[in-house]
Amino acid sequence: MAQNPSAKFATMRGKSPEEAKFFWTGGPVEVAPRTWFASQFSGCTAFETDEGLVLVDTGTRQFAPAIAAMLRQRTQAPVHTAIYTHGHIDHAYGLDAFLLPGQTRPRVIAHRAMPARFARYAQTSGHNAALNARQFGGTVAHQSGETYQAFAAPPVPPDTLYDERLSISVGGVGFELKHCRGETDDHTWVWCPERSVVCPGDLFIWAVPNDGNPQKVQRYPLDRAKGLREMAACAPQALCPGHGGPVIGDAAKIAHMLSETAQFLETLVSRTLAAMEAGSPPHVDIVTGIELPKSDSPWLQPVYDDTEFLVRNVIRLYGGWWSGRPSELKPAPRAELAHEIAKSCGGALSLAERAEALAASGDFRLACHLADFALEAAPQDCAVQEKVAGIYEKRAAQETSLMTINIFHSAAAYARAGRPFA
Ligand SMILES: [Zn+2]
Repeated sequence: MAQNPSAKFATMRGKSPEEAKFFWTGGPVEVAPRTWFASQFSGCTAFETDEGLVLVDTGTRQFAPAIAAMLRQRTQAPVHTAIYTHGHIDHAYGLDAFLLPGQTRPRVIAHRAMPARFARYAQTSGHNAALNARQFGGTVAHQSGETYQAFAAPPVPPDTLYDERLSISVGGVGFELKHCRGETDDHTWVWCPERSVVCPGDLFIWAVPNDGNPQKVQRYPLDRAKGLREMAACAPQALCPGHGGPVIGDAAKIAHMLSETAQFLETLVSRTLAAMEAGSPPHVDIVTGIELPKSDSPWLQPVYDDTEFLVRNVIRLYGGWWSGRPSELKPAPRAELAHEIAKSCGGALSLAERAEALAASGDFRLACHLADFALEAAPQDCAVQEKVAGIYEKRAAQETSLMTINIFHSAAAYARAGRPFA
């Protein structure tokens, strides 16, 4: 899921109790005998065995002490094995907080692709800090050194890697680990048949799956759908998700939640591919022309990612980087284009005023194109800055997904700084 559990989550509007499930904080919840779940932003599951704990996910460095304190209300067993469902900082970076004083270093299991992720983070820490600043509504100038530090290997990196599947037994309790690409290429889901508990990691997050994230690397919705169907086929009695609260004792509901999410993704991919098959039109034409799948189910609301963004990711998975617009194959520098457009419209301020009028009429999509050109033509013009910032703030207020809301808030912040998003 996210890379930064920021206070910006407070920007979510109109949180219903069901939407709040994505942001659920609580625990310890007993989900099966000797098995507890707790979450603060992201969830952790502790399976107590006669040899020690098997811990699935470890939270962020920031919130892990609180999660560990919750789970330690129920068990004082040392951590025997930790499993990182994937290498995001809200899952793989908090293990220290769960270790007992003086205990031996636990075994840490992850998919074989995870170390390459940490190497990528180390190579691109500045890039990641900038895109996370946008994702959480700010500008990179507002980010602290902590963000840069986060994009390195976790404090306790994995020491046991596997490829497709791994079966382990700890204290006589069996666990099945399965690789499943989805939000990441290094994702693992865990099934404990004896206790009938499934831990999907971020393959299930009580929201439209994060398979669209506009600033992150490739995601794999069909692989995720296949994994969700495999989980449903296990008929688990308890679901302990990567984000949101647990579901306990209702195997039919859990299977429905997993299967419906799979169906949602399959529908979205098939509609996108059908649009691509019809002559491979420009990407924007596909995105704005497609009928997006929708559900009334509380676990399929676009509160974090935006369904429209998933279409983009499918296009990228099956296609190239070119947008499909001839002018964008070898484009002019944006500032030059903005100047030309502003000139032909009577100046950047006129363009910004027209953008404002369009925004006032509710056409924010069109308004923001003009706003971008106005700002890029006259980034130091305070009147233009203020109009553009205002348009993006109003647009943010119209949106439902945290990612969209915060990127538009970030656009407003950049406009006020006289910097067109860089
Ligand atoms: Zn996550």
